[in-house]
Amino acid sequence: MSIDRFDLVKECFEKKAVPAECPDGKPSDYFGELVFDRRKMQKYLDRRTLDALLDCIDVGKPLDPMTADKVAEGMKEWALEHHVTHVTHWFQPLTEGTAEKHDSLIEYDGNGGVIEKFDGRDLAQQEPDASSFPNGGIRATFEARGYTAWDPTSPVFIMDDTLCIPTVFIAYTGEALDYKTPLKKALKAVSDAAVPICKLFDPTVNKVYSYLGWEQEYFLVDESLYAARPDLMITGRTLMGHASSKSQQLDDHYFGAIPSRVAEFMRDLEIASHRLGIPVKTRHNEVAPNQFELAPIFGETNLANDQNQLLMNLMSKIARKHGFVVLLHEKPFEGVNGSGKHNNWSLGTDTGTLLMAPGKDALGNLQFVTFFVNVLAAVQRHNGLMKASIASATNAHRLGGNEAPPAIVSAFLGRAMTSVLHKLLEVPSDTPIEIAGKKGKSVGLVEIPEIFVDNTDRNRTSPFAFTGNRFEFRAVGSSANCAGAMTTLNAAVAEQLLDFKAALDVELAKGKALNVAVMDTLKPIIASIIDVVCFDGNGYAPEWVEEARFRGLDTETSVPEMIKEFTKPESVEMFRRTGVYTYKELEARNEVKWEMYIKKVQIESRVMVRMAINHIIPAAIDYKKRLLEEVALNNAVSGDNSGCAVELGLINQINYYIEEISAKADAMKKARKMANSIEDLYERAVAYHRIAEALNDLRRPIDKLEERVDNRTWPLPKYRELLFIS
Ligand code: ADP
Ligand code: MG
Repeated sequence: MSIDRFDLVKECFEKKAVPAECPDGKPSDYFGELVFDRRKMQKYLDRRTLDALLDCIDVGKPLDPMTADKVAEGMKEWALEHHVTHVTHWFQPLTEGTAEKHDSLIEYDGNGGVIEKFDGRDLAQQEPDASSFPNGGIRATFEARGYTAWDPTSPVFIMDDTLCIPTVFIAYTGEALDYKTPLKKALKAVSDAAVPICKLFDPTVNKVYSYLGWEQEYFLVDESLYAARPDLMITGRTLMGHASSKSQQLDDHYFGAIPSRVAEFMRDLEIASHRLGIPVKTRHNEVAPNQFELAPIFGETNLANDQNQLLMNLMSKIARKHGFVVLLHEKPFEGVNGSGKHNNWSLGTDTGTLLMAPGKDALGNLQFVTFFVNVLAAVQRHNGLMKASIASATNAHRLGGNEAPPAIVSAFLGRAMTSVLHKLLEVPSDTPIEIAGKKGKSVGLVEIPEIFVDNTDRNRTSPFAFTGNRFEFRAVGSSANCAGAMTTLNAAVAEQLLDFKAALDVELAKGKALNVAVMDTLKPIIASIIDVVCFDGNGYAPEWVEEARFRGLDTETSVPEMIKEFTKPESVEMFRRTGVYTYKELEARNEVKWEMYIKKVQIESRVMVRMAINHIIPAAIDYKKRLLEEVALNNAVSGDNSGCAVELGLINQINYYIEEISAKADAMKKARKMANSIEDLYERAVAYHRIAEALNDLRRPIDKLEERVDNRTWPLPKYRELLFIS
């Protein structure tokens, strides 16, 4: 075994880059070629079918069965030209990742042969067995079956030989069993709540879009080294491993030159993404060694999220071609940065106005400030829930780790917007809000800088930062489905906008001018948030936890506890008013989350104990045996132990750590047994939270042994090998 490790390392050091397969033409020639987008609709559908489908996509008009058949016919024609043989409904259950069940297109033709069949019914609905997916008791209590239904707002695409139809996944009793359904409800809620406010500023607005631009961070490790680490293979992270002498302290990886094997992987990934219409744009090295990031041009949230899900699949597949494995885990390596998925988020109208950026004139700026302040108020109201929306067993390792946002949701505004808000509290309500410099210098005027200087003055320690024309929710985990965070954020903002509009209507009814009524409504909100959720200081500082608690922000760090936020009365009420989740759904989802948490920790704990017993202790004993032989030899020659002080010292230390490991592994097994006997899921998750913390205690003596045991005998690829070879 010891020899193997050296061979593996040498082998991957010698690996050559595998050239990417470059298609003919420019990206604009093949962008979206595997998507049934509007251009394909025009080509493959007749005029009437096209109009009906566009009405369905744009304004939600239902498709009649005949038209659905025609749509399916057009899709089939297009798909067959791309050698498609199978079709699947593609959905996002409450597990991680996506689910698909492929059906061949063939059907008997009645004459002894087969034909390719795909009609409106195949397009509209499928019935996967809902009982095989997490449903948090909905199935047990209500109805065993669930169905998937086409989401026409998300285009159909081709993956390999399969036509993929993005769908929602719902129980027959109506409860959502997936991520997409509540996200779509939240997006509708935020539009419905925002439009009446926008109409006051521009009566032609009919719809408000939520936009998402995700930045996906990930690690790459060589696949042969990965295969020699059971912890990476099974849990997605290293459960043990001494820090490398060099990690990220020289800051030499961030934005550094991309190694050629990695560059070819990225090229293949980008081409595949572009062919699937995913507008990936940015790629760069991240802070940690072997850590990278890619980001697309932002888009409508539902579609952008589908694309992120698709991209995560693509990454894993394409990496294998290049001899890599993608790690999407939030904290694959201790001691170096973890991976997040910053969710850049904003709202915009169907008339092209971005609501999170200053406007063209004083009225436009007032509209911007209105939305800006209400977003902050929503985040303040539901800061505990926002954190719960990104909480998971895996993300817990990253948050609060002095390299990722703390486990407290506050908002960073930057100097410019902080002073605008302070100023607004001081001036009369009819003071116009101008772009700085446009009206000359004037005391009393509220001024917004045209280009945000603070754009670059990024506070990396903030979980929710304003970055000039959007907010960046940075606490989202790299492996997460963005829908979790986006559903909560959009719904919370929708609720706040409903309340704001109601309060504004009261002011307007008093006969006030729009700008005065808006400011009179905003002022008390500004006063209530400016010293609570708004925080531009250092989120990593230990004092912040104390201060945040004093401000009334949620500082909980245990994931099983955080999950409870979803069923607190204020959360239940918010989700009810916005039509996003029923109480039953919230309860069911909490059960799924606790269950997922338990399973993840349980698996980690099993892997850890087995590795301790099957890999680590035997390696240490092996080395100890050689040391003992050496001492015995020495004794035989010189008659005493003189000259063996180092060996004896090492033997002592090895004995000490082996005993510690063995005792802690036994204790962990017992703790698991105890936890497993707890009936209530929440209580069991709390017990597993303690086991999660004990994993670190078991890790320490193992890492100590790694420092002491002969390098040739150590059975696992080390951090320095995993992190520096590409
Ligand atoms: P940085 O690393 O500087 O934060 P990146 O370029 O890596 O920025 O990613 C920023 C992401 O934010 C991109 O996906 C970009 O398209 C997206 N974005 C830019 N403007 C908006 C906006 N108004 N709303 C939502 N997302 C946006
Ligand atoms: Mg970035």
